[in-house]
Amino acid sequence: MLITLRPDADVVAVEAALKGLGLWTTRLRDADGAARGLRVEPHSAPAALATLRALPGVADVWRAPSPHPRVDAQAGAAVPLPGGAPLLVAGPCSVESPEQAHAAAALAAAAGATALRGGAFKPRTSPYAFDGHGRAALGWLRAAADAHDLAVVTEVLGEQHVDAVAAVADVLQVGSRNMQNFALLRAVGAAGKPVLLKRGMAATVEEWLLAGEHLLTAGAGTVVFCERGVRGFDPETRNLLDLGAVALLKHAYRQPVLVDPSHAAGRRDLVVPLAAAALAAGADGVIIEVHPDPGAARSDGPQALDAAALVALTATLEAHR
Ligand code: PEP
Ligand code: MN
Repeated sequence: MLITLRPDADVVAVEAALKGLGLWTTRLRDADGAARGLRVEPHSAPAALATLRALPGVADVWRAPSPHPRVDAQAGAAVPLPGGAPLLVAGPCSVESPEQAHAAAALAAAAGATALRGGAFKPRTSPYAFDGHGRAALGWLRAAADAHDLAVVTEVLGEQHVDAVAAVADVLQVGSRNMQNFALLRAVGAAGKPVLLKRGMAATVEEWLLAGEHLLTAGAGTVVFCERGVRGFDPETRNLLDLGAVALLKHAYRQPVLVDPSHAAGRRDLVVPLAAAALAAGADGVIIEVHPDPGAARSDGPQALDAAALVALTATLEAHR
């Protein structure tokens, strides 16, 4: 953003007024060395143009057009799931059987969840790992959710599955590994449903917002941004939960934000503390992996909460109600 100054402006006074509003500036000088304008640095607080234009000494304010106008236009939107904040979406990493889906849904509902998560189509790093039961699992997930009056959030792995997933899911999930799969974003957006957009594990916030713009341009309902940790340098946790990005998305961009502490931590004992931190940073809720028997889980067992661990999670959520 650029602020131009009146010829008689007291530049020191204008800078002080801007600093008081949380805006940090650099002087722009003409050939004679006189300060003719101020460049507002990107780490400044948001401010209304009208407020800035009304400051003594300010001639005009110029803001570059946003690269993601549709994302900006959904500022203030709620997460399109039932229930009040903080929201809990819970369920298994993978949908393994009708029985497991029902047991996980019962755990989720008892913990206060209003939506059931669970992967039918699983992105796996190894081609030899369990990659989900596919279309059959979508039916098991929906039936388990309906039995407990829960909405369904589940991942779309490929363009060829969009219709099948959209037929059962209330919110379509785009996984971290697919955040910049632009053909998939177009296909998912065209389904016209709300989307949970996981952050790519090495994506900047701007790239993430632009992926949201792709979805909205293609016709998606509300895009919910889900922070799930970025690649860090320390293998003691699976990923590095970027709470700065959560605060930025919530407080500066005013976007609907969920946090996935399960994939961030990679270990059960850290999930509840990270969930509490996510809520403190401004998240609208959390998406958590739960399993009736984590030791038998076919994916991500070490990070799945069991019934006992869910008690602590419920208490943490209650403290934020
Ligand atoms: C998931 O939520 O099931 C998942 C695979 O997460 P991510 O895309 O964040 O790794
Ligand atoms: Mn998982």
